[in-house]
Amino acid sequence: MLQGKTALVTGSTSGIGLGIAKALAKQGANIVLNGFGDSEGPQAEIAALGVKVAYHGADMSKASEIEAMMQFAADTFGRVDILVNNAGIQHVAKIEDFPVERWDAIIAINLSSAFHATRLALPAMKAANWGRIINVASIHGLVGSAEKSAYVAAKHGVVGLTKVTALENATTGVTCNAICPGWVLTPLVQKQVDAKAVAMGLSNEEAKKQLLQEKEPSMQFTTPEELGELAVFFCSAAGNNVRGVAWNMDGGWTAQ
Ligand code: NAD
Repeated sequence: MLQGKTALVTGSTSGIGLGIAKALAKQGANIVLNGFGDSEGPQAEIAALGVKVAYHGADMSKASEIEAMMQFAADTFGRVDILVNNAGIQHVAKIEDFPVERWDAIIAINLSSAFHATRLALPAMKAANWGRIINVASIHGLVGSAEKSAYVAAKHGVVGLTKVTALENATTGVTCNAICPGWVLTPLVQKQVDAKAVAMGLSNEEAKKQLLQEKEPSMQFTTPEELGELAVFFCSAAGNNVRGVAWNMDGGWTAQ
């Protein structure tokens, strides 16, 4: 379905980003990966799906590096047809204890990076009259949780940015939508499971159950594969007139 298209997924060396990159690659899209840590393994996983893959290690907290990454993608594959703004970090602390440096980093990586990549991707998408911008927000783009001020503020911002991007391009072939996962068992969440296990004297399994019990009625983690299939839907012809939505995959979290 996506043969000949190029998808750039930020923060795709791990977790949800890698799951979405694989799902788009399975549909035939060439992939530009980004993120920290091992990039060889993820590149090999994508190449094994029979598409072309490239990697750029831009730090999403830096506008100049995002510019270099978008230029690299255009130089390598011609243009970016599908942009998935996924890179994100978390920090958990009460507002009065929240390190200012963590606030700044979360706003830069979880929110401003999506603005920068979007502004740089739009001209070529509009010229081609086809494009898909998918912002990985969170259930925290729709509701709050204590001790996550920067994350909740950034993710609400991402949902707002999604709506404006969709509206500004509503008469074109460029759509923009957000994905709002509940708990997904990635390294980002495992850190929170570990903290709970230590704080409450629980085993890893008990801490995971406790985490789910607090928020997610299904008592199941959403998987990167499921989120990847939602991204594929947004890229399909059936998604042509889906514009500015924030779609939950949250096991009922926000139905409560
Ligand atoms: P993860 O830690 O597994 O992956 C994060 C990715 O972002 C990694 O590839 C990492 O290298 C990259 N990254 C981090 N800082 C970066 C930077 N400065 N520049 C470039 N890349 C950077 O986490 P994940 O759970 O897969 O999270 C992916 C996205 O999904 C995030 O935006 C997160 O907020 C969102 N999300 C996660 C959950 C969850 O339960 N895990 C729920 C809702 C939303």
